[in-house]
Amino acid sequence: MSGKNVTAVVAAGPEGIAQAARCLETGGLVAVPTETVYGLAARADRPEAVAKIYAAKGRPDFNPLIVHVAGLEQAARYAEFSDAARALAEAHWPGPLTLVLPRRADAALAAAVTAGLPTVALRAPAHPAMRALLAAVEFPLAAPSANRSGFISPTCAAHVLASLDGRIDMVLDGGPTTAGVESTIVAVRADGSVEELRPGPLAVGVQAIGGSIEAPGQLASHYAPGKPLRLNARAAEADEFLIGFGSVRGDCTLSARGDVNEAAARLYAALHEAARAPQPRIAVAPVPDHGVGRAINDRLRRAAA
Ligand code: AMP
Ligand code: MG
Repeated sequence: MSGKNVTAVVAAGPEGIAQAARCLETGGLVAVPTETVYGLAARADRPEAVAKIYAAKGRPDFNPLIVHVAGLEQAARYAEFSDAARALAEAHWPGPLTLVLPRRADAALAAAVTAGLPTVALRAPAHPAMRALLAAVEFPLAAPSANRSGFISPTCAAHVLASLDGRIDMVLDGGPTTAGVESTIVAVRADGSVEELRPGPLAVGVQAIGGSIEAPGQLASHYAPGKPLRLNARAAEADEFLIGFGSVRGDCTLSARGDVNEAAARLYAALHEAARAPQPRIAVAPVPDHGVGRAINDRLRRAAA
């Protein structure tokens, strides 16, 4: 808990950004829109502030946080950038790409941010509200998705309130997010090799090697709607809420025209709607596994697990 019982919802204009910056400076928790999902931000350089993120989310302390920065120059204070890492950041930042890199020994980050790992996850997001906030403060922001641990990620302010109202200080309301699924996470090793740890909106041409649970967002059960979920459904059973795609019509649809990008943007809103629906079970139509469809299917498998 962050010490208050009322969560203020403030429009993500200049005044809201200034208010959020003041709140973060004094160690508060603010939910902020990014182009992927809403993040729950705290200053990454203060242990007490970072501890509040874990407490508000009920997040296990072995699950490290992504550190959000304005760009490469700021990121280089916290991690060792190899040529390969620098090239990826230059090509994709600001954007939905998180780089896991060797943590610098002198990185001024609270220990809990990296959960004891020798690496740190860094991202420069593209959303104008998050960029304005990062420009307004003098510290990086630790920000996991703004939901209770294990549940559906938020893509609008109402989703944030549905799971964190009263547990955080403020929500910056910037409307619905556009990319819809969490950032692509890529680890760049000291030897220059690159490994995808989590598929996301951005394809960087590397595939998961799989096996170890290095990014705990990769735990088998995650993004859970709280009801059984059946994949690859072409029609609903009597007790199911069907999430459609393309020609499979449902109680709602990810994309009637069969567009995976539109489906990604709508995925979590559809899961929230299904979670609220009277039917005790959820079914989801097949989604093609190309482009961001890989990320959608990754999240749906974990929601079903
Ligand atoms: P969330 O922000 O809730 O989507 O979670 C952030 C994801 O980044 C989780 O899956 C973390 O495990 C992953 N992550 C953060 N830091 C690291 C790191 N140093 N190494 C590997 N994965 C990380
Ligand atoms: Mg999350």
